[in-house]
Amino acid sequence: MTIDNYNFAGKKAIVRVDFNVPLDENGHITDDTRIRGALPILKHILEQGGALIIMSHMGKPKGKVAAKYSLGQIKDAVAAALGTPVLFAPDCAKAKEQADALKPGEVLLLENLRFYPEEEGKPVGIEKEDPAYEAAKKEMKARQKDFAKVLASYADCYVMDAFGTAHRKHASTAVIADYFDADNKMLGYLMEKEVKAVDNVLSDIHRPFIAIMGGSKVSSKIGIIENLLGKVDKLILCGGMTYTFAKAHGGEIGGSIVELDKLDVALGVEELAKKNGVELVLAPDAICGDNFSNDANQKIFPSDAIPEGWEGLDAGPEAQKRFADAIRGCKTILWNGPAGVFEFDNFCGGSRAIGEAIAEATAEGAFSLIGGGDSVACVNKFGLADKVSYISTGGGALLEAIEGKVLPGVAAIKG
Ligand code: AMP
Repeated sequence: MTIDNYNFAGKKAIVRVDFNVPLDENGHITDDTRIRGALPILKHILEQGGALIIMSHMGKPKGKVAAKYSLGQIKDAVAAALGTPVLFAPDCAKAKEQADALKPGEVLLLENLRFYPEEEGKPVGIEKEDPAYEAAKKEMKARQKDFAKVLASYADCYVMDAFGTAHRKHASTAVIADYFDADNKMLGYLMEKEVKAVDNVLSDIHRPFIAIMGGSKVSSKIGIIENLLGKVDKLILCGGMTYTFAKAHGGEIGGSIVELDKLDVALGVEELAKKNGVELVLAPDAICGDNFSNDANQKIFPSDAIPEGWEGLDAGPEAQKRFADAIRGCKTILWNGPAGVFEFDNFCGGSRAIGEAIAEATAEGAFSLIGGGDSVACVNKFGLADKVSYISTGGGALLEAIEGKVLPGVAAIKG
């Protein structure tokens, strides 16, 4: 089924959205891109006379109730965005009565799905090496099905619109679809739009194609980095991973973030880039701080000659220039992950330089795709959101889609 062929009038729709928005220490939303992304489908259902049951996760509460991850904190923001009151179900697995009582046009927001380990379906408190692990996993998978069935019982139809978690086979993103027939489950507008944006990039790559990968660690991105090395002409690797590369060549990196068990991975990336003829751009210098804070004293050092007592927190001036030079003239641009600790205003210059260079290239006709919560936050922070081609609500999901993997959240609907 597709959204535009479905009549929501008088129906209860359970919609999986991605409201995993960043909050400050007072519980205020610092970037509402994901809420805005879900609005078209939510408004469409209400306008047609349907009732909404909205479900999402937030953060990583690991199967336990934790106030700081409560979706209750964003209830009012969702109501303001929708322009209608929002009811709240404080226990997502015990919301049947509230769901049954919903009238057309009413909205019920369920508490964080990940307060239940069943949502992710991973056994808790047991290591993979444990001989009992397989049995525990099997039991949890059965519980996951029961949990999905409870969620499904709230509604007449299911809409999957959480692109940010579509790469996970969770109760609410995929398993639940088994409890609806093909005529009563569909992808939402955001999912359709996101899948199309990825297709745009991959089906007709205009070259040069550059990817900019940043963030804290190389380990979490190695799969996509290796994959991209088979697709791109240039690859900028920046952010915290800079220092794993510097260390792999015997450099001094002071107190910078590093993955000592990934030095061989870094060297492997360099080798593969060379083999594939990809221009690999790493930061030659770093803006360092004498502690991990916005107010730290600053000094610039070569990325591989950082003395003790200093840590690299942003790309240096020469690095920023090289990044901008590499981006200039490219026709397809993918950006995931910041070039430094952009949350600190004094260490966001590298990420800003990347964002501005992307905006310039976009003005010259490039297609730029920005994904991942942090890069999206950067683009918003620097006021560049309307100067890039497409802002994805997905990080991992976007990268897996670009790797060419079929996302479980899509497969659950489309088979
Ligand atoms: P990730 O979750 O791996 O995409 O990483 C995003 C995080 O990386 C952001 O919160 C940044 O603050 C952080 N980050 C980027 N560069 C550095 C750095 N040089 N040192 C420490 N953290 C960094």
